[in-house]
Amino acid sequence: MGTGMFDYAPAPESTALVDIAASYGLYIDGAMVDPLDGTPFKTVNPATEEVLAEVVAAGPRDVDRAVAAARAAYDGTWSRLSGRDRGKYLFRVARLVQERARELAVLESIDNGKPIRESRDVDVPLAAAHFFYYAGWADKLGYAGFGPDPRPLGVAGQVIPWNFPLLMLAWKIAPALATGNTVVLKPAETTPLTALAFADICRQADLPPGVVNIVTGAGDTGRALVEHPGVDKVAFTGSTEVGRQIARSVAGTRKKLTLELGGKAANIVFDDAPLDQAVEGIVNGIFFNQGHVCCAGSRLLVQESVADELLDRLKRRLATLRLGDPLDKNTDIGAINSPAQLDKIRELSDVGEQEGAERWSPACELPERGYWFPPTLFTGVSQAHRIAREEIFGPVLSVLTFRTPAEALEKANNSPYGLSAGVWTDKGSRILWMAQRLRAGVVWANTFNRFDPTSPFGGYKESGFGREGGRHGLEGYLDV
Ligand code: NDP
Repeated sequence: MGTGMFDYAPAPESTALVDIAASYGLYIDGAMVDPLDGTPFKTVNPATEEVLAEVVAAGPRDVDRAVAAARAAYDGTWSRLSGRDRGKYLFRVARLVQERARELAVLESIDNGKPIRESRDVDVPLAAAHFFYYAGWADKLGYAGFGPDPRPLGVAGQVIPWNFPLLMLAWKIAPALATGNTVVLKPAETTPLTALAFADICRQADLPPGVVNIVTGAGDTGRALVEHPGVDKVAFTGSTEVGRQIARSVAGTRKKLTLELGGKAANIVFDDAPLDQAVEGIVNGIFFNQGHVCCAGSRLLVQESVADELLDRLKRRLATLRLGDPLDKNTDIGAINSPAQLDKIRELSDVGEQEGAERWSPACELPERGYWFPPTLFTGVSQAHRIAREEIFGPVLSVLTFRTPAEALEKANNSPYGLSAGVWTDKGSRILWMAQRLRAGVVWANTFNRFDPTSPFGGYKESGFGREGGRHGLEGYLDV
């Protein structure tokens, strides 16, 4: 955005390390195979609209084959290995993710549209950290608080979204393997490439065939996997709507289910907060990953007495954000992942205006090709507005004000969701008071969007159930 203080020379990350094939098969039983009844589709770079590769939308027979491979691997090898041996494989996978970090980061940015700064510094290191963390648990399950010898469930069917493709894969696969389960994973339709690169990492790590299977595809492939009778455990991250469908289809079966769904997090700034720090936290809370974050701080609740000052500083800060080429190391805001998501963001933002909220964006030139949306603020938002209630899943912040802590709490909890929240204040006692009363799975204090494999993540209400990460994350994959 041209209004910043500095001009930056372009600093594009090299794509030389990335070798994208013209077409990919499915990763089943330790090998890339041609589909039985799948059909090809293309994955594109959302920043340029260029076709990157052709991949397979796996059909029911393909899914069946993958589940059979996972079952054979479970019965034949993986469930019989000692925790120590499973741990060795997982440490190997973790190290390979680290070794190939640069390649994975570039691939992620090309396929997803997120800035290389984020894929390089957040997504990929955290994915490796998850594998390291759960590798450490593999031989210590008897000390995790689930009895002396907790047993795995069997075959896990895992369906993940497009916002953190490799990281969500790690969140799903690492605990499943550590606890002795085998996996069939379906990446999102628009972001299959890092999952396919991960298939190659499994091969490099000499993981026994069938322990990890990757079936690319769209919603139909996901449904076939979730509904497959050979699956013992379903783990899903995505929209609340699809989460509901999955909960219905799994109800009454023996399948164990964890759901990580949407959010509409309140990021609450009190009048005693360090405002410059809060501004950084607000920016990180909603503009990180173009706002395609389930725990994004999409509702800013600011105490009335500091609202004007905070908004001033926030607007000045937004004017310095750089939107553009995701591969440029100076880029703060990348491309919107798909035309469908862009339509949704546009539609809800238009609704915001129609309902009477005031819309503001910094001067911002959008590239001609690709899918883009400028960072956007809405002030004068009331709780009844759709932009205060619904997940926009884009770089759009709704600002509301409050006068007392009780009012802040009331407004924050007035949501069908309950995934995360942020509190900005100088007072430790207020942080504790708020944290005890906020109905949110994660409460950040004087920070936001901070992730660590040791700390559990998950929601209340329509944000889902079950926890991922930490010791808690083992439970969803154990027969307890
Ligand atoms: P979905 O919930 O549709 O996608 C999540 C995953 O589920 C994808 O792999 C998807 O495949 C798959 N899927 C879709 N339908 C089914 C089904 N019936 N059974 C099993 N799996 C299925 O999210 P969208 O990508 O469509 O995004 C829609 C909205 O959801 C976003 O605008 C955002 O608001 C929200 N969202 C929230 C996320 C979160 O982490 N909280 C993550 C992603 C989206 P495919 O990719 O082919 O559709």
